[in-house]
Amino acid sequence: MDIAKNIDAIKAEIGDVKLIAVSKTKPASNIEAAYTHGQRAFGENKVQELTDKAEDLPKDIEWHMIGHLQRNKVKYIAPFVHLIHGVDSPRLLKEINKQGRKIERIIPVLLQMHIAEEESKFGLDKNELNELLSSEAFKEMNFVEVKGLMGMATFTEDEDKIRREFKSLKHIFEEVKAKYNDEKLNMTELSMGMSGDYKIAIEEGSTMVRVGSAIFGERN
Ligand SMILES: *Cc1c(COP(=O)(O)O)cnc(C)c1O
Repeated sequence: MDIAKNIDAIKAEIGDVKLIAVSKTKPASNIEAAYTHGQRAFGENKVQELTDKAEDLPKDIEWHMIGHLQRNKVKYIAPFVHLIHGVDSPRLLKEINKQGRKIERIIPVLLQMHIAEEESKFGLDKNELNELLSSEAFKEMNFVEVKGLMGMATFTEDEDKIRREFKSLKHIFEEVKAKYNDEKLNMTELSMGMSGDYKIAIEEGSTMVRVGSAIFGERN
């Protein structure tokens, strides 16, 4: 597995779109190989693994929490996490705000939208998103910064379906930007696309892709 070569190939394809190298389950040596090659943004989906790796690896790495986050674990990543991609409930957002207030750090997050057909995928629907963004409770959350939206397409070979789902997320993104962006809210990021579908995601307006196996090889 030539990590540097894989990164170069992906970067050549994605242009200005930001690459998050998803290093979950992979050893620190793999991250170091990517880091030495200039990669700084890494994604993990488990809090324990994320904090262990952050402790051992260079301090200028940007750590992205991309997995489902339990409220009782927010406190462990609050001091250093670069971006939490998977905020899928008002209660979780409230907890992140609470932990941010404690340490006086404004924590950047993305709200995760449910766009796939699978029941198991986490995320908000459009009504829940509107309810959250227009709520009084949200207006008082001064220690979170909602930078945009994240979503995962259905795991399928059907490219038209994947494209439709990404299109629907982009549409919601543009709608909420038009409706809510003001001096408090400035949503700019749309996190969509993984190893199997990042090309489609970029065609549909992604600003950051989360790519694991295409860089580091298949996971066990
Ligand atoms: C694992 C994971 C990825 C990366 O998946 P690959 O198919 O290996 O690129 C991206 N996003 C999330 C939320 C993940 O859990």
